[in-house]
Amino acid sequence: MSFCSKVKNELLSLRPPECCKPSYAYGFMLFGRSFSIKKINIQTANENVAKGYCDAVFAVYKVRPEITQGGSVRPTYKAEVLSEADRLKILASVDYGIEDRAIDDGLFLRECCISSFIRGAFLACGNINDPEKEYRIEFSVKQERAADDLLELLAQNGIKMRKTLRNGIFLLYTKESSAIEDLLTLMGAGKVTLDIMDTKIMKSVKNNINRARNCDSANISKTVEASIKQRTAIDYLEKADRLYSLPQELLDAALLRKNNPEATLKELCRLSDTPLTVSGLNHRLSRIIAIYEEMAK
Ligand SMILES: [Zn+2]
Repeated sequence: MSFCSKVKNELLSLRPPECCKPSYAYGFMLFGRSFSIKKINIQTANENVAKGYCDAVFAVYKVRPEITQGGSVRPTYKAEVLSEADRLKILASVDYGIEDRAIDDGLFLRECCISSFIRGAFLACGNINDPEKEYRIEFSVKQERAADDLLELLAQNGIKMRKTLRNGIFLLYTKESSAIEDLLTLMGAGKVTLDIMDTKIMKSVKNNINRARNCDSANISKTVEASIKQRTAIDYLEKADRLYSLPQELLDAALLRKNNPEATLKELCRLSDTPLTVSGLNHRLSRIIAIYEEMAK
């Protein structure tokens, strides 16, 4: 099941309180495929959404839209109010076709009714990406006026989204994880919101682990680099017959490195027969390098 279907199923499982039922059904219908005297319908790939549409409409108007299934490769479900008399009844209940506004906010009796309306709208035309892949939530709206009204309504409720036109459809979208969480919370999808937060936390944990790993490998390459330099110096001194004429503590350090080319300084100190500190050993190896550099000039 897609992440979006999971979110929609959670939204569908919520039972709107009495005051919210008209605005919930209204959001579902207004942002469905058509909402006019000719047609009131929705088309969706999610059968539960089609059923939810029917339940929402029936709960308010006692009219049950009919579901038909289409699509040969991927099934689509269409829920439609078939009778014109029923469509008129529905349209008469909202201020349909008012000049400058697409959304009739007369149905919003309380704050909760706005949330329910937005929930209906999202079920009808919303989409959300899996946050493990990408943070993105959007509404696809056919009419610009309806898109603008929804954009404004969302902004009034603290959710900033952007509007763009793609293939003749107006998209309201956001890629901000906090805005996505706020929108899901507003619509009542608390469980999914928690999942997203978990994902976010996991992402940041993973990033931290990767950062630590990169840091480790940077340290490792520094160790390797230093060891190569030390071994070059030791090889040179050996070939020049100077190695065994070095002071004893330098000779010991040189042999320790020569016999343990991969070891870190800390490991070399542990391998040493005489007690050594990392800075002490480092100092000795640096002196060997200095002698070599002086000779190789
Ligand atoms: Zn309400």
